[in-house]
Amino acid sequence: MKRHQTIPAHLRYTISDFNRQFPTDDACIEHLKEQRFPGGLVFCETCQGDRKLHRVKGRPVYACDECLTQFSPMAGTIFEHSSTSLRLWYYAMYLMASTRCGISAKQIQRETGVTYKTAWRMFRQIRSLLSEPDTQLEGLGVEMDEMYVGGKNKHGKRGMRGRDNDEKTPVFGMVERGGKGRVMAFVTPDVKAATLFPIIAERVLPQSTVFTDEYSVYDQLGKHANCYEHKRIQHKQNIYVTGDVHTQTIEGFWSLVKRGIGGVYHSVSRKYLQTYLNEYSFRYNRRDQGNLIFNAILKRVSERVDSPLVSKESGNPVAQ
Ligand SMILES: [Zn+2]
Repeated sequence: MKRHQTIPAHLRYTISDFNRQFPTDDACIEHLKEQRFPGGLVFCETCQGDRKLHRVKGRPVYACDECLTQFSPMAGTIFEHSSTSLRLWYYAMYLMASTRCGISAKQIQRETGVTYKTAWRMFRQIRSLLSEPDTQLEGLGVEMDEMYVGGKNKHGKRGMRGRDNDEKTPVFGMVERGGKGRVMAFVTPDVKAATLFPIIAERVLPQSTVFTDEYSVYDQLGKHANCYEHKRIQHKQNIYVTGDVHTQTIEGFWSLVKRGIGGVYHSVSRKYLQTYLNEYSFRYNRRDQGNLIFNAILKRVSERVDSPLVSKESGNPVAQ
């Protein structure tokens, strides 16, 4: 792929690197175990002590050296109830991390040989790891803007129209100027001040400079309790940049999203739009990491676990 040539060597992670690091299911299990129980150490609730784990032969679980309570690295992760091999999961994550514009479930199906239904499920699960709920925007200022995403119409064209169109799903986005240049985007029920201002207050530090266009919903932003300095660009007068006053960074992000939705995902239902936005934001916020973004996705697996570490399948007492 041509694009790979533009990634600096130290940020490159090729398919050979992947095959070398993860040649088998066992290598993936071992990797996941290290993520969740670094050094193979765990506090065993059953026998109440810091214990070492050993692999249980022939099964994707580990056991406490002292009391044999079993620990599954997959418990609570997106892999937990899946019959798809762990290596295929890893490969799907690798694929998702290795394209700039994202790939479709169809491509995952083609590349991995799983059924479309399985590919779609894997795709959704992996994307569910990519939200960034705690991010606060800093930098020299924050641009904000809304856009509308529509599904396919009868003529197969995807619409991205302006405000006041009920059939379109509104999306609100903000991006940092300078600093890390991070973006965040949200599906919102509407674009009223009562909806957008709480999102802004939660994510943008007080006294930040905020840049918007002239849309009336932003009128009160300069009077917000967070003391924002509000600068606006007059798009209606065909002015798009005045000094540092513009919203071109967030608009650039919108065009990435639109291209992605149009070119890769074909159509997006309202139900899944937020996860698409999460994926695009995750990628955009790590755009200087080349395809080491794969590591960032792998790390999310163990950061986002939702149940105890102990294997539910084990016949041993379950430590809670
Ligand atoms: Zn134990």
